[in-house]
Amino acid sequence: MPEPFVHVGLPSRIVLGPGTLDSVPNEVDLLEITKVLLIATNSVRNEADLLELALQDRFAGRIDGVKQHVPMERAEAARAKAREVDATGIVAIGGGSAIGLAKAIALTSHLPIIAIPTTYAGSEMTPVWGQTADGDKTTGTDLAVLPKTVVYDPLLSRQLPLDITAASVANALAHCVEATWTAKADPITEVIAVEGVRALRDGLQTVLTNPTDLDARSNLLYGASLAGSALASAGTGIHHKLCHLLGGAYNLPHAETHAAVLPQVSRYKATGRAKQRLEAALQTDDLATGLFDLFTEAHVPISLKELGLTEAQASEAADKFAAAHPEEEKKVVADILLRAWNGSKPEGVSR
Ligand code: NAD
Repeated sequence: MPEPFVHVGLPSRIVLGPGTLDSVPNEVDLLEITKVLLIATNSVRNEADLLELALQDRFAGRIDGVKQHVPMERAEAARAKAREVDATGIVAIGGGSAIGLAKAIALTSHLPIIAIPTTYAGSEMTPVWGQTADGDKTTGTDLAVLPKTVVYDPLLSRQLPLDITAASVANALAHCVEATWTAKADPITEVIAVEGVRALRDGLQTVLTNPTDLDARSNLLYGASLAGSALASAGTGIHHKLCHLLGGAYNLPHAETHAAVLPQVSRYKATGRAKQRLEAALQTDDLATGLFDLFTEAHVPISLKELGLTEAQASEAADKFAAAHPEEEKKVVADILLRAWNGSKPEGVSR
């Protein structure tokens, strides 16, 4: 029997399968969107061109090129563009950065979003928005930014370079793993998170040897969707909060930062039944070292110093974090950040 719990499931329509990009005009009609503002990551410009044509007279305007962590000035320019073209909805194609910019518009306008993710960041499944100004990343939760429809077409991520793929999978794994220990964690989210880890691990293992395998790319999108749902219902804990601080204050790349920090946080935070289930899904006998080994095998940078952080900045980040989050033990935060900076193999503590 589970302990008493509360679980909140969020409403979104998910369409997954090879070639589903073609269904986007129909999905636009289902939401009764008449004027689409298209947002596209540069790497999928060609696919966005095709989509623009397919949208026909529903197409109202386009924003190309997006930046990670949604800089405030980009958010304001995008909102102005939505007003200028009189958009009644947004279609965002790309990674978390494209979807993040769409969310910035929806936050103030409440325009519906159709998300077409091409990475595994999982933002498309969450009502969480983020924005960065003066080195500070602010995040918040608002149902208005949750995409109404998510179209997962594995053909779009087939050419996603292996380094970006692996780091992005690490980001999705972080959503799943942390979802088992946050204050809002519950047994339903745990099932979603564990299945997410299984799909992400299996998909990653296959694409490491066969990057264009369509089944594996579908598996990764499925895992990313579960990971995003887990994050949406469990919220964030120490891991995501540390990564947001590092990303906002030191402009570190988002997904890679997750990869360096996750094994070290898992060493302290994963416990009990959830830890065992995550280990079974990851096919390892120790979660922290299993994650570390998987990321190493996939050639994801495993230290913050490789990402350009200095040791002094790592220690400054630990102080900043401890000041903002007195609920976390200062010594533990400092140890996590020092180990993540060094890329030390996480042995000990939880074994
Ligand atoms: P991203 O969107 O910047 O994409 C990473 C890289 O992949 C970029 O260089 C992009 O051009 C490239 N790329 C994307 N699709 C490609 C394709 N099909 N082929 C080749 N290259 C491709 O980064 P991301 O890791 O997807 O997302 C990170 C951002 O998302 C951060 O700002 C993060 O804060 C946010 N995020 C938000 C949430 C949330 O719930 N709000 C969750 C996860 C991430």
